[in-house]
Amino acid sequence: MPSQKLLIKYGTVAHSNNLEPIDILISDQKIVNIGKNLSDKVDRVINAKGKLVLPGGVDSHCHIEQKSASGLVNSDTFYTGTSAAALGGNTTVIPFAAQYDGDSLLEVVDRYHNLANKGSIVDYSMHMIIAGPTDNVIKKELPKLILSGHSSIKLFMTYDRLRIDDENILEILKQARKCGAMVSVHAENHEMITNKVKELLEDGCYHPKYHTDSHPVEGEVDAFRRIIQMSDETKQPVMIFHVSSEQGLNEIRSGKSRGVKFFAETCTQYLTLNSHLLDQEQINDGAKWICSPPIRSINDSEALWKGLEDRTLDLVTSDHAPYSFDNKGKFFKDNSPNFKEIPNGIPGLHWRLPILLDRVLNKQCNLDISDFVRMTSTMPAKVYGLYPHKGEIKIGSDADIVIWDTDLNITLSDDMVVDGSKYNPYSGMKVSCWPNEVILRGTTIVKDNIIKTEAGTGQFLSTKLSEYI
Ligand SMILES: [Zn+2]
Repeated sequence: MPSQKLLIKYGTVAHSNNLEPIDILISDQKIVNIGKNLSDKVDRVINAKGKLVLPGGVDSHCHIEQKSASGLVNSDTFYTGTSAAALGGNTTVIPFAAQYDGDSLLEVVDRYHNLANKGSIVDYSMHMIIAGPTDNVIKKELPKLILSGHSSIKLFMTYDRLRIDDENILEILKQARKCGAMVSVHAENHEMITNKVKELLEDGCYHPKYHTDSHPVEGEVDAFRRIIQMSDETKQPVMIFHVSSEQGLNEIRSGKSRGVKFFAETCTQYLTLNSHLLDQEQINDGAKWICSPPIRSINDSEALWKGLEDRTLDLVTSDHAPYSFDNKGKFFKDNSPNFKEIPNGIPGLHWRLPILLDRVLNKQCNLDISDFVRMTSTMPAKVYGLYPHKGEIKIGSDADIVIWDTDLNITLSDDMVVDGSKYNPYSGMKVSCWPNEVILRGTTIVKDNIIKTEAGTGQFLSTKLSEYI
């Protein structure tokens, strides 16, 4: 990738702890100087007057070109998924390499490397999903992979083909502690979900709206409590993925106040979408908003905003998981499926940053622009070993910068979609901000909503357990 020497002038630059009017000099893919009234011989001066200059977004929870629990590969390629990411202001993503029972983890990781290397237009590392925790996988393959720069593991406590029992979770936590890896967890009580699904289907409750009832909040509370206990017992930090409910949040708050060291995230959809969306006039339309855990009540969303404000929650991701609204995606099992037959997931890489930044700029929450940077870029980079190369505008860091317009009036719509889902679950929502230019390691990859780079320009980011957490 040709690297430009760039000077970004007159912008308002946001860090994770303050905001200042300052210039940025970029050379050889890095930020080489930050200061007032900078001047230098450069290839291009960007006049960012009146604009916000933020570090590129890091979306640390997104499913791209990945085989799901249902056996279906989701609707993205690395090119479409990372194009959506870049257009929405992200310069780094952390998708998943998904093992299923019987697979060699080494081979799985290799396969995802090939896909990402070919298609990605933003930088990436990856979480390794472990679903078949044999001795060979845990004792031989895992240490090798961690040593070679894959320091993030993902575990599921639910889903038939993915879940790991507590005995194996403890084994993996101990091994992660020994080898130096982060562990993220989808934490819901599997038996409570299975039981509820059976009850609903036996009663003839097939409509998408029953998806919410099928994942009881108590299942989140129980699984959070167990994984926090296991994290405490093994002294292995974990990240609790997609906190969706007020009761779940309270469990996180209680664990943190006891001094257990762990992290928790929520996602755009749990903050801004609610369960009434599953109950549409055209029954199938509700499928667009089926994700797990489910979107819940307005009360839950309000509690989650408070959880971000008091820092019970550390970061916000998209949990991007696109399935097209046709028989290759949401309706692959049946044209009028019951809620259980619909693949779980909604797209979000494109929408996370504009929606959240809009809420911040329009003071719809008690969070400021630095909080936004911390939750969407700095913290994900710190937790997953990408900091200080990623996640902050500072001298020596990669020149991953997004220049935002903040005085717009945009209505989100299906027409804007570039990811494989081909629908926008946030259609109709208005935002006042949008990325004007997205710079990855000193090279412009998006300008005026047009992709300026090619598949394969993104680089793999080798990681080790972060010293910043
Ligand atoms: Zn996910």
